[in-house]
Amino acid sequence: MTRCLSLFGATGSVGQSTLDLIRRDGEAWRVGVLTANSDVTELAKLAREFRPDIAVIADEARHGELAEALAGTDIEAAAGADALVEAARRPADLVMAAIVGCAGLAPTMAAIESGTDVALANKEALVSAGELMTAAARTSGSTLLPVDSEHNAIFQCLAGGRIEQVRRIILTASGGPFRTMSAADMARVTPSEAVAHPNWSMGAKISVDSATMMNKGLELIEAHHLFPVGLERIEILVHPQSVIHSLVEYIDCSTLAQLGSPDMRIPIASALAWPQRMATPCAPLDLATIARLDFEAPDEVRFPATALCRAAIAEGGARPAQLNAANEVAVAAFLAGRISFPAIVDTVRRVIDAAAPAAPTSLHDIFSVDAASRAAARYFVDQCEHA
Ligand code: NAD
Ligand code: MG
Repeated sequence: MTRCLSLFGATGSVGQSTLDLIRRDGEAWRVGVLTANSDVTELAKLAREFRPDIAVIADEARHGELAEALAGTDIEAAAGADALVEAARRPADLVMAAIVGCAGLAPTMAAIESGTDVALANKEALVSAGELMTAAARTSGSTLLPVDSEHNAIFQCLAGGRIEQVRRIILTASGGPFRTMSAADMARVTPSEAVAHPNWSMGAKISVDSATMMNKGLELIEAHHLFPVGLERIEILVHPQSVIHSLVEYIDCSTLAQLGSPDMRIPIASALAWPQRMATPCAPLDLATIARLDFEAPDEVRFPATALCRAAIAEGGARPAQLNAANEVAVAAFLAGRISFPAIVDTVRRVIDAAAPAAPTSLHDIFSVDAASRAAARYFVDQCEHA
């Protein structure tokens, strides 16, 4: 039976990997929605190939350009934040949420509220509004299928047991490109060094997050929402080869792990096909060649981001949304060459120290915290730049 997929963030790294799988399994899928932020040329090219009902460009100013690029097809062209939300409400068998940042929150939430199952890559949405999103999923009956490789691994390991009988969840982390670098040397790293991840090929923002270990902190928050075993039962373990994607230990001390080549098409395929499996073109694991797997405890002195995230989710309320927004601004400032690498996490810490936002009760509250936190982060970035 053909299933309908709506893909948000089609032009990104996860979006392209998703389309690579769909392209190879054309009989199984029909594409309902394709979206992008501002790259009209790429979005129109994908739309002409995959023939969705609608293509949405987030940048409202490019509506005309998109309509022109799709002229002569029966594909609807739409633009802007409201159009993204409207597209997310359209019936689909699965929404792939692969927009980067809190910008993906409104459409992801709209899909969940409509009761559509969501393959969730967009971790910033869950970090910012985890309670609201999981509550909405419970109400609507939407299933959240984690795409982030660690969470997808945990989801798979939980199929072998009951969540009430979990003793520990162990999130693995590669440690990023600066795992063995001194703090002094990290002060001088460039954006191109930070985005060069040793194992994974990913978008720029998540690559920088992996280098600061903020990514693992965001994933800790993500895991807390997806797998409610208690924060104290979720640990981080550095595993430089990225072969074991995470582990679940049960009360009998039996530990299940999910392994695979570091290729996002594996967790994406797992979410697309769930509860079935689908074939992928990925490289099977060759453990004899890999020969050894290494592990070490995380160093929270050189990489303070994970502790910051643990404190934010322990406090709860709007803290994670505040942290996430500050991090988005700081990462963009680092990528633009405006602040140093250590200033990313320093900026996040300053924003957190400067204000304690009230607990959010609605998406509107989350967006207010997000906006205030971005403004505070921009202020600290300006200060850093002129220091
Ligand atoms: P990316 O930067 O490669 O792509 C992001 C996509 O979002 C693009 O299609 C872009 O057009 C769209 N987008 C960006 N800003 C937008 C905005 N303001 N409004 C609407 N659309 C916007 O990012 P990515 O690496 O594919 O990551 C996507 C998400 O998946 C992130 O949340 C990331 O943390 C998560 N994730 C990615 C990977 C990976 O391997 N890339 C792994 C795990 C989780
Ligand atoms: Mg991950």
